Amino acid sequence: MRVAGVTSVENRGIPIEKQHHVWIGYLLFGLSSVGVYYALPIFVGTIPLRVIVYCAVSTSAALAVWWGVRRNKPEPRAPWIVLGAGQLVYALADTTFYSSHYVLNETGYPSVADAFYLGHYPLVVAGLLMLIRQRRSDRDLPGLLDSVSLTVVAGLLSWVFVIGPQTRLGTPLLVEMVSLAYPLMDLVLLLVSLRLLFGGGWRGASFVLLALWLAAILTADTVYVLQRLDLSYEAGNFLDAIWLTGNVALGACALHPSMARMAQAVDVPALRLSWPRLAILSTGALIGPLVLLVQHYQGVRRDVPVIAAGCAVLFALTATRLAGLAVDQRSLAITDSLTRLGSRRYFEARLADEVARAKRTGSPLGVLILDVDRFKSINDRFGHPAGDRVLVEVATRLRAVAGSDRVLARYGGEEFALIATGADVENLKRLAERLRHGVSHHPIAVSGRRSVTVTLSAGTAAFAPHYGTASALVSAADRALYLAKDLGRDRAVAGGTSLTEHREDVAVDYLNQVADLVDLRVASPGRSLAIAEWARTVAEHLKRDPGEIRTAHRAGRLLDVGMIVLPDDLLAESGPLTDQQWHLLQEHPDSGARMVGVLPDHGEVAEVIRQHHERWDGAGYPAGLMRDDIRIEARILSVCDAWAAMRADRPHRRALTHEHAVRELRSGRGARFDPDLVDVFLTLLDKRVVGDLTAGPGSPVTHEGSRLS
Ligand code: GH3
Ligand code: MG
Ligand code: MG
Repeated sequence: MRVAGVTSVENRGIPIEKQHHVWIGYLLFGLSSVGVYYALPIFVGTIPLRVIVYCAVSTSAALAVWWGVRRNKPEPRAPWIVLGAGQLVYALADTTFYSSHYVLNETGYPSVADAFYLGHYPLVVAGLLMLIRQRRSDRDLPGLLDSVSLTVVAGLLSWVFVIGPQTRLGTPLLVEMVSLAYPLMDLVLLLVSLRLLFGGGWRGASFVLLALWLAAILTADTVYVLQRLDLSYEAGNFLDAIWLTGNVALGACALHPSMARMAQAVDVPALRLSWPRLAILSTGALIGPLVLLVQHYQGVRRDVPVIAAGCAVLFALTATRLAGLAVDQRSLAITDSLTRLGSRRYFEARLADEVARAKRTGSPLGVLILDVDRFKSINDRFGHPAGDRVLVEVATRLRAVAGSDRVLARYGGEEFALIATGADVENLKRLAERLRHGVSHHPIAVSGRRSVTVTLSAGTAAFAPHYGTASALVSAADRALYLAKDLGRDRAVAGGTSLTEHREDVAVDYLNQVADLVDLRVASPGRSLAIAEWARTVAEHLKRDPGEIRTAHRAGRLLDVGMIVLPDDLLAESGPLTDQQWHLLQEHPDSGARMVGVLPDHGEVAEVIRQHHERWDGAGYPAGLMRDDIRIEARILSVCDAWAAMRADRPHRRALTHEHAVRELRSGRGARFDPDLVDVFLTLLDKRVVGDLTAGPGSPVTHEGSRLS
């Protein structure tokens, strides 16, 4: 990142000022010291020069760790301090060993040096465990199982080639115990190293150096133990090069500026078995049988019970690992990754079960579908990531109300579905209201100090014999949701449970489709939806009561259903109308009102439709009403309808320009239109909350749903 005049200060979290090359210097110094170590004779004069070089290198690694901690300031420091302390004890062991070996000529085994050597292991293991804990916040069971599996393999080999032979040597107890302690400690160190390696996460330069150090210790120790067994070990042989290089790697690791990132937390992967790891584990599992085979051809048979036990343990570990993987896989398939609710697939599977049960037992069953109102505008205003956060919060709130036992799923983008076992129509209604209130009762923070009140529309359906299948139940709830949206959102609607309610839904659906068809026939698709939205926006702006707002909206949607019976040439407005055509056209408010009037609770809506061509000056049709005798909803719709007509292209004329249409509205003030309503419409037009025919409902320009708080 370059900020005016300031050079880059951040490089993947490491301040640039701290990029230094001390670690390279140290690495070069250390490696050349190893060369010098082998080039020098052991003694120069009486001075044991080689010993001094050796001890200097291993001590320098401890000092490098201390210096690295001061310089790179890792957070936390404790793991490094413990690792450094381990290296110090190790250097002490080297000093003790080589000085007693070369200077005092004491070659006894075990010696004080062995106490130090063995003592350094717990510190290294503790330091590594502290690092692992920082890197992984979870328990990482898969990583643990994999590490244990490979350690069991190593243990098996160790038993066959080191521990078994050692116990059969018949050496004195102390010698035997110390000799066994080394391979055992190495196994523990191996386990912890594998855990660090399998734990995933950041693997930069200092991580590689750390791994190099551990690999060097483990390799050299193993060879050392084997050489001790067949009595071929000689102090100062090639193993010293491996140990020394390992020490230098640790020092360089601590000096490397990236060491501060070693404790950085790991992003836990969703599925945890890579192909390389699978290959390593499978090869490991073959070691037991392979050893048996080799023994078979060599004509010896040793440690068979141990090998059998090792194989059994490996099998158990592998089976556990695979079972874990299957569980992970399954939960991935049935969980929505964003909200952590069930997926749609999970919902459908569970619903099929529940419907079968309800049919068997006759127990009540309900389904609820909830959809966030005007969610698109949240995305539009605050961005997609903020939209995601809102969805997560909505899911959390729904879960809190639903409780952990209910099947609650993310059914689609901003749609949620719930199975309510044992719930009848009344329970469903209450549950829907509780869920809706649980989400809308206080605003959701979106970005900075901005927050938004989110409302939901809900459709419910209770299982009944005439919804024989799960999908019929869901479509009933879905239709109810659609109706809830259509009735103005922020409400719950119960889907048809009785046959009559069902019929009513169908009738509403049908009339909506008629409205869509009329829109198509006048070549203005989406027109009635837009008019309905504008009418509601205007009514809300005027602070009319909720009943009027609803009526304006419903009437807007069904405004011209009466036109469905008009012939095509009339709808196309291709030329001046004949008297007969005029007569037909003027009938559409009445016939529309009659069609809508048969719906339950639609009496007022029908009345508004009947009046939407009345004029302020009394020259309208069909009744020639004037001024306040015309219902407010009809007066609003008259303006919205005119605007929609002027702004749409028709086959035989182009749409008026925005400015032209505004002029037309103005000129109709007090004649065709209620003057106040023209003013309100123009104000809202300026704010771009009404008037866009292409936007459709739910788009930002027609939006009023989520209120900023
Ligand atoms: P209505 O009240 O009619 O439901 O209006 P709406 O805007 O909520 O509905 P619509 O179906 O028009 O828009 C839904 C939007 O939800 C469109 C899509 O971009 C958005 N969406 C779907 N899935 C996600 C998601 O995972 N994250 C985010 N941020 N947005 C999503
Ligand atoms: Mg929505
Ligand atoms: Mg939607």
